[in-house]
Amino acid sequence: KELTFDVTLRMVEATGTLILSFQDITHEAEAGQMRRDFVANVSHELRTPLTALMGFIETLSGPAKDDPAARERFLNIMSGEAERMNRLVGDLLSLSRVEAEERIKPTTSVNLTDILTITLRNLNPLAVDNDVKLVAEFGTDPLPLRGDPDQLLQVFTNLVENAIKYGGKNNTVEIKTETSLRDPALRGPAMRVSVVDHGPGIDPVHLPRLTERFYRADSHRSRALGGTGLGLAIVKHILSRHRGRLKIMSELGKGACFKVILPLDGAEV
Ligand code: ADP
Repeated sequence: KELTFDVTLRMVEATGTLILSFQDITHEAEAGQMRRDFVANVSHELRTPLTALMGFIETLSGPAKDDPAARERFLNIMSGEAERMNRLVGDLLSLSRVEAEERIKPTTSVNLTDILTITLRNLNPLAVDNDVKLVAEFGTDPLPLRGDPDQLLQVFTNLVENAIKYGGKNNTVEIKTETSLRDPALRGPAMRVSVVDHGPGIDPVHLPRLTERFYRADSHRSRALGGTGLGLAIVKHILSRHRGRLKIMSELGKGACFKVILPLDGAEV
């Protein structure tokens, strides 16, 4: 690993002694680089739909001015591009809100069973549109934990939405829960929620970086499906606020399993 140092040379006037000091600023340098990469990525992601919009505006005000069929087609594409920008800005705002709250421990009493039920109800229309069957493998027992209900809803919405979108048509998506009385990493009772699809899966080389902002395993597919590349980054930050973890298991051609592990009431975290 490369380290970055700040080097200063001082002279103590009275004695004429020279003091050379090194300060490890690797962390700051990395944070600065990440910030610059992020701004460059955001600019690029916004510029692509914006360039398309500008092109269509020009065509509509010139060559296609008096062609109603072309007008309708272009307006449709423009509306899609505007929606893409809107989704990106929405996800950026979510990410910044989640990051701002990351150090504030959530205290609301939440029933995870309710949150999963609402997630499935909200996403049922998307599943029907994609010929995907959603299978809930959890009971009605309340699963109590301290959390932020809106943020937890966002976690499961992002994961189930990805499973529906990337899993492809005629797929089944399973959502299962299991409780473990003593999770080794959490030193206490934990809740595990798995979202499993049987789609094309993800090449394992991508798994370690999948929760990075704008990292996509299949960039073409993500864009075609309207993805912003921020969904899993948002999931990661929300889980970190809840002292939870995300485990991703997948192999190409074998579907994917996203497992959320959350401490239940009583865990020593
Ligand atoms: P996106 O907006 O691109 O979906 P995410 O952060 O939600 O962004 O996901 C990051 C990447 O992970 C996606 O671009 C996709 O390549 C991959 N991915 C996520 N979920 C799945 C899944 N269930 N099956 C296959 N690939 C997936």
